This record gives sequence, C-alpha cells and structure tokens, in this order.
Amino acid sequence: MSSDLAARLSAIDESIADAARRAGRDAAEITRIVVTKFHPASLVRDLYALGVRDVGENRQQELSAKVEELGALPELRWHFIGQAQTKKAGAIRRAADTVHSVDRTRVADALDRAGEGMAPLDVLLQINLTDDPARGGAAPAEIEALTEHVLGCSTLRLRGVMAVAPLDEEPAKAFARLHGYAERVRGIAPDASWISAGMTGDFAEAIAAGATHLRIGSAITGPRPAQG
Ligand SMILES: *Cc1c(COP(=O)(O)O)cnc(C)c1O
Repeated sequence: MSSDLAARLSAIDESIADAARRAGRDAAEITRIVVTKFHPASLVRDLYALGVRDVGENRQQELSAKVEELGALPELRWHFIGQAQTKKAGAIRRAADTVHSVDRTRVADALDRAGEGMAPLDVLLQINLTDDPARGGAAPAEIEALTEHVLGCSTLRLRGVMAVAPLDEEPAKAFARLHGYAERVRGIAPDASWISAGMTGDFAEAIAAGATHLRIGSAITGPRPAQG
C-alpha cells in the first residue's frame, strides 16, 4: 500500500518537474500540496513519512479531526482549500496554516477576529473563474476591494490568489485569466505572489500559467473513499 503511494508520489513529482522544465521554470519554486480529503489521518502520516510537508483539506470538521488525531508533526503545513463558513472561522484558524478560500469580506473579518493574539494566518483570495456564483470565489470585479480589505486585517497575511478551473473550459485559458488576476492583486499587495491552481487533471497547464502551489489529490492518494 505504502509503496504504491510512494510510487504515485514520485511519478507526480516527475511530471511536475517535466512541466516546469517545459515552462522554463524552476520546480523548486512550486509547492505540491497533497489533498487528503475523505482519506483517514493515517494517510497523512504515511505521506509525512515520505517527506510530504504540505497537505490540503476542504472540510473544517475533517481538518480539525485530523489535526487533533495526528498532533504536532514538525513542519507539516495544513492548507484549508474548501468553502469557509464564517461560523467555523475559529476552528479553521486553529487547525490551518494557510486558508486558500477567502472570497468575501465577511470571511476575512471572521478569520481576522478569530486570530487575535495568534501568529498571522496566510490567506489567499479565491477567485471564481466561471460566471456561476455557486462555484465559490470572488467575482473578478471584486478583486481590488477584497485585496484592500484583507490588507486591513491585521492578523491575516495576504499571499496571493487561488482558483479552480471551470469544468467547461480549457484549463490553460482559465489559468491565463487567473494569472492576470494575480497581477492585479500584486499591483496592490506586491508580496502576494502565490498562485494556487492545478489539480490532478490540470496541474501541467497551471504550471505553464505560473502556479506556485498545486493542489493534487487523487493522482497521489488514489481514488477517494465514498463521501461521508
Ligand atoms: C479535491 C480538491 C482538489 C484535488 O482534486 P484532485 O482532482 O483529486 O487532484 C484540489 N482543489 C480543491 C479545491 C479540491 O476540493
């Protein structure tokens, strides 16, 4: 089991390195986050033993339970990549090192309030690459206002942008737009240089479009167990 995991992990890392080379980029500037949602905490432990230091979860309860079960694993960073509910902000904040899904001022404010006296929280603005508000993410027209707002939240550290490719569009085209949105954020917040994009099916396109953080699940973990 664990040797399959090791093989899949190294195969993906090779593909990442290939895609980076084709894009004329240094793979060392790309962080591969392994998305472990729906898998047991033991999988995170196995990945950790293989050298993985960045893992992603999309549901607060599952994130909190795994963090509690595993306790402190030195240098392990938990990325929250799911829709953030304001009433869960405190729990998200206690469990996550980075939140990729700040898409409304209310979410930013809730995370900020929950972080009084804590170390700053790294956050990304999730941008919607579709016209469907239900897909999550801020509309591109809101980018400047949301950027300014998050910069005013003293316990949040704005790192960049995050997006999920639409289902009905070529990922390369959508990620090119995302690159433009990232530039708009950087025009206001020069340090916010992260671009979180690219999943199992489209990480090569994301790398070509400048992604700095990939969120890869099933290609590494294998198929996800049925949703609880
Ligand atoms: C599940 C998930 C991923 C990983 O998806 P795979 O296709 O399994 O790689 C990436 N990003 C988000 C926001 C997710 O929810």
